[in-house]
Amino acid sequence: MTDYIFIISNGEEIPIIFEARRGLRNITLRPKITPKREIHISKPILISVSSAIKFLEQKRKWLESIFMNAPQKISIKDGDTVEFLGKKVLIQHNSAEKSNFYSKNSRAGENILIIGGTSEMLTHRVRDFVKNEFLAEVKKIIKTVPSEFHPKKVAIRDTTSRWGSCSSTGTISFSWRLAFAPTEVMRYVIMHELAHTKFMDHSVHFWATVSKLYGDGVGRAKLWLIKNGHGLHKYF
Ligand SMILES: [Zn+2]
Repeated sequence: MTDYIFIISNGEEIPIIFEARRGLRNITLRPKITPKREIHISKPILISVSSAIKFLEQKRKWLESIFMNAPQKISIKDGDTVEFLGKKVLIQHNSAEKSNFYSKNSRAGENILIIGGTSEMLTHRVRDFVKNEFLAEVKKIIKTVPSEFHPKKVAIRDTTSRWGSCSSTGTISFSWRLAFAPTEVMRYVIMHELAHTKFMDHSVHFWATVSKLYGDGVGRAKLWLIKNGHGLHKYF
């Protein structure tokens, strides 16, 4: 059943998904933010939908705070301009194309990204394009530092809690959403993780290494992430 919606105070309609389960003793609410904004309700079979809705209303304040604090994602349409990796990119959908590529017709300072395939796949394809470009850019930036700092492997992730991580096995991972950050901030996170290949802690030696690799402005980049980091999740 998906015919119910929960309307939050800014007017957004959130679909409610019911699930009746045998053996369940209580109603449980699970607000979901990704990949879709939905409220999942599991209820014992003998509890009516209207009782479950009543229960949901009692939790309105809590539910609203969750959806208001995680703003709706911006969806991508043909003709939108998206800024990533320091470039402003105009998205042009062309269903006659099979792949995604930068148009040769781009003039100076203008990037036109042709996205092929069906229009339903547009957002998905843009996301994959950004991810791939991000990984390529990370690898390029890593090449600018001495090879003693090079990791065994570079991976991309989509974590909300950390921008980068370094494992004891020598793999460093980055949130690909850093692609939407200023390039200097992205470079800071990379240098931070590369410094972890030598120091697994946040000691004085570690920070001295970060400064050596990154140069001036470490504090500025850190502050930018604290203040604006949540905004990097606004797309997709
Ligand atoms: Zn660290």
